[in-house]
Amino acid sequence: MKVYINKPLCTGCQHCKDVCPVAVFELRDRSDPANVNVDGAPAEMEWKHDIEKNVLAKWKDVQDGHNHFAEKNDGTSGGISVGVNGEACILCQACLIQCEGECIHIIDDNETEYKSIYS
Ligand code: SF4
Ligand code: SF4
Repeated sequence: MKVYINKPLCTGCQHCKDVCPVAVFELRDRSDPANVNVDGAPAEMEWKHDIEKNVLAKWKDVQDGHNHFAEKNDGTSGGISVGVNGEACILCQACLIQCEGECIHIIDDNETEYKSIYS
């Protein structure tokens, strides 16, 4: 399985990491694109310090106990998600229904793609 994030859409909520049973995700510093753009996402989904404006408008003022768009992760949220261990994915789809930014992409061995649907 390949797992990558459309990073301009990622709020850093950390829901993906919290629900994944096989540790596919890490939250890394937004200030370091070279360390973030390592999960095989297409070029247009790489992190270039450009938060997508509709996601920013929707989440920047939401107070739900998670840091949205913070530079660094504090152990609960913040930073930006990276699919560092896609090979371990068992396609439980837990992350896909928890992703605020609707930005997780999972590609199986038959090239079938599964995308986030936040509910
Ligand atoms: S679908 Fe894969 S990446 Fe997402 S939570 Fe389940 S095992 Fe983790
Ligand atoms: S759940 Fe989605 S928006 Fe939240 S940190 Fe993970 S990839 Fe980013």
